[in-house]
Amino acid sequence: MKSLWNDAEAAQLSGPLGPRVYTSRLLGRDKSLVLHGGGNTSVKLREKNLFGEDEDVLYVKGSGWDLETIEAQGFAPVKLDYVRRLASLPALSDPQMVNELATHTLRAGAPAPSIETILHAILPHKYVDHTHADAVLSVSNSPDGEKRIRDIYGERAVVIPYLMAGFDLAAYCAREFPKQATRGTVGMVLLSHGVFSFAGDARESYELMIELVSLAEKYLAAQKAWSIGLPPSPAPAFKREEAAKLRHEVSRAAGFPLLCLCNDSPRFLGFARHPQVGRISQRGPATPDHVIRTKPLPMLGRDVAAFGKAYRDYFETNAKHAKEPKTILDPAPRMALDPELGLAAFGRSAKDTRIVEDLYEHTVEVILRAEALGGWQALEAKHIFDIEYWDLEQAKLKKGGSAPAFAGEVALVTGAASGIGKACAEAFLKRGAAVVGLDRNPAIETLFKRPDYLGVVCDLTSAAAISVAMDAAVKRFGGVDMLVLNAGIFPSSAPVQSIASDAWRSAMTVNVEASLLVMQAAHPLLKLAPRGGRVVVIGSRNVPAPGPGAAAYSASKAALNQLARVAALEWAKDGIRINTIHPDSVYDTALWTEEVLASRAKAYSMTVEQYKKRNLLKTEVASKDVAEMAAEMCGALFAKTTAAQVPVDGGTEKLV
Ligand code: ZN
Repeated sequence: MKSLWNDAEAAQLSGPLGPRVYTSRLLGRDKSLVLHGGGNTSVKLREKNLFGEDEDVLYVKGSGWDLETIEAQGFAPVKLDYVRRLASLPALSDPQMVNELATHTLRAGAPAPSIETILHAILPHKYVDHTHADAVLSVSNSPDGEKRIRDIYGERAVVIPYLMAGFDLAAYCAREFPKQATRGTVGMVLLSHGVFSFAGDARESYELMIELVSLAEKYLAAQKAWSIGLPPSPAPAFKREEAAKLRHEVSRAAGFPLLCLCNDSPRFLGFARHPQVGRISQRGPATPDHVIRTKPLPMLGRDVAAFGKAYRDYFETNAKHAKEPKTILDPAPRMALDPELGLAAFGRSAKDTRIVEDLYEHTVEVILRAEALGGWQALEAKHIFDIEYWDLEQAKLKKGGSAPAFAGEVALVTGAASGIGKACAEAFLKRGAAVVGLDRNPAIETLFKRPDYLGVVCDLTSAAAISVAMDAAVKRFGGVDMLVLNAGIFPSSAPVQSIASDAWRSAMTVNVEASLLVMQAAHPLLKLAPRGGRVVVIGSRNVPAPGPGAAAYSASKAALNQLARVAALEWAKDGIRINTIHPDSVYDTALWTEEVLASRAKAYSMTVEQYKKRNLLKTEVASKDVAEMAAEMCGALFAKTTAAQVPVDGGTEKLV
């Protein structure tokens, strides 16, 4: 492990917190040191208060900030003397500690100071860096881990046995650190938790962290426990229905929809097929802070009921020892190891599934290295339980209780690169769904840059291409719960006697047959939607009220309409609802080039302006208006409605 310090980069961050911000980001860049909030940093500064008096302020990483992208305002300033004094109290509950930290923060609107703030305060040095480095965890979670750590570091690091993060740990360190520390001490190892480094200078403190972790890495290398090979494991063909079925069952066990991300990389497959996987994966996470996201253990294979039973046993055994009465969390796993799927990660949002994936990627390395040292030793179940059911974490869960309408659900939108399709993607994302956008336009891939969006270039007239896109959707999010059939073309206007057969055929192929192909591929997935499948068909006002000159378009949309009606009859027994929107006067879409607009206006003997608002309400209808209706049709408002046809057209006189 090398220092990433760069003088030119460092110079770009000025102000008293500049060096602190810079080296925090350097730590955050290395995922083997800091992963998803698994580390924190601080600096102690002397500042003048409003009365001109000197005051010692501890700037400590605030919660909700990632070290990799932290800014100066991501550090919470707290009164150093007061916070340090807290460590001398005989006892303090963790909620009380959080209260004291919040009420001794010196800037209104600052983020909540890290739960490890008191630990930073009791260390005498100006700069303190803390990580949950993989290498240190591998050594500390092996047989005789404490002895190995002491051998590696000698007097360079104080060694603290495992205690749960919070007040008790900080108070213990406050007593123990002065006893063990010598002039040569530059760090502190918390067994089964992580490592601290400290110094008077930001660069020195950061580089000491690199040095301490490198010592653990070198130790592992010397013991042939650094790079652990696994036998090559070619990935079997992805079976999307099986993955969707697994997600369905896990969501049912949880009581709410969860997304599922499958990763069949050689590393995950190799680990899932490891001959000892039952032993090494079933002992606990690499560090207790992972358990909040991952639950205590991965499910082995796909037996969700067996996992639920084991989880209930674990709860009942450990809840007996808890100080406060506890209620069980949902007994659904947050990850599974499967010899065919590799790793399956479950979460309420796409971001959560990615976090589980990242955490377990590192956990695999930590476990394999500790195994190579003689045997992976996880924390006792009761310690894992204490973290999982920590009152501070439970309070956070309650706060996050009001999930968005479509949290944990997946919407697939065809023709999503522009117009109504793009607006639909936005409407579903806004309601918390993960969205898969399909389009032949390559812009679909980068339409949104966020973890809950997947754009796939797809020729919807090809069943094979649709199958590939469905695989991608299920691999990333676990299923398709809501389908918006939006892709369509509008052939140039022609009277019936002059319609070119190509124009007729392409209208039928794209507007009808492609929708049929997508419906056929999606049907098994819609059946497995945790809250029932929903299909929204973007029809056209031309279906109930055709106009002259658009026979190919109108006929194709009418055929699509009839297809949707029959599907509503056939799929109701599968719990799938199908409703249709008949938009009109929507001109902010790719269909409506100026040319098409002019020719349609002419067909009605109107100006373009008159044509655009030729509805009862004399209003222009936007893509967004149609998209909002599409999203609502998939929500609670339409829960008891199928085969409805709803106009979004400003009112059509002929249809009143
Ligand atoms: Zn920590």
